[in-house]
Amino acid sequence: MYWTHIYFDLDNTLYDHEKAFRKTMLHFAEKMLRRKKASVSPEKWFEVFKRYCDDYWDHYESGSWSRETYQINRFQSANESFNINSNAEEALDFQSNYEWNVATFSELFPGVEELLTKLSNQPVLLGIITNGSDEIQRSKIKELRLDRWFNNENIYISQHVGLSKPDPQIFNYAKEEEGNFLYVGDSLNQDVRPAIEAGFDVIYFNSRDTDKRPSNSTIPEVTTFNEVSTVILANL
Ligand SMILES: [Mg+2]
Repeated sequence: MYWTHIYFDLDNTLYDHEKAFRKTMLHFAEKMLRRKKASVSPEKWFEVFKRYCDDYWDHYESGSWSRETYQINRFQSANESFNINSNAEEALDFQSNYEWNVATFSELFPGVEELLTKLSNQPVLLGIITNGSDEIQRSKIKELRLDRWFNNENIYISQHVGLSKPDPQIFNYAKEEEGNFLYVGDSLNQDVRPAIEAGFDVIYFNSRDTDKRPSNSTIPEVTTFNEVSTVILANL
């Protein structure tokens, strides 16, 4: 195998975060709507909620809104669209229910088990580099049973490490020994650019089929995990 170390991002790379987000939010929306005796369906509520998530994202990403403000506003705006009364505290409770339960709604992308099982029999070190809260990311890793293939010491979670993507330092931190390193991630800004800067080879797994890589780029860009496997296994 050409690569001696293969690291993966977690959300939207090893499992379908979009799908888990939808399923978890629908579950808690249904409970909330029932409690409020609202006549709107969870699906309809989620559709509007998701639109606010996307519309408000720039305020959060640019730093003009805190994470909490973003979470409160998207919940409140969705409820206001249906004339449902709610307050900031309920919004944060809703968010916290989501965060503590999203792991149980998560499923690996098709092809992940097969690839990781094959790689486990190869002389290659497997690891994860992910942003997020230590506790929440670990709960996903546990639910997805990723410990079948990843040793704890090769799992780097931003909150625990004290460095977060897109800072290339978190990639350098994981690169403590000599070797040929590969990183697989679904974001150009958070994964691809900083990993390249830290000297990794990269596979851009464009799992949400969003930003295309720059046309002059030679990095592999794929849209299914099975294609990620094909690129990696070609180097066996
Ligand atoms: Mg990701």
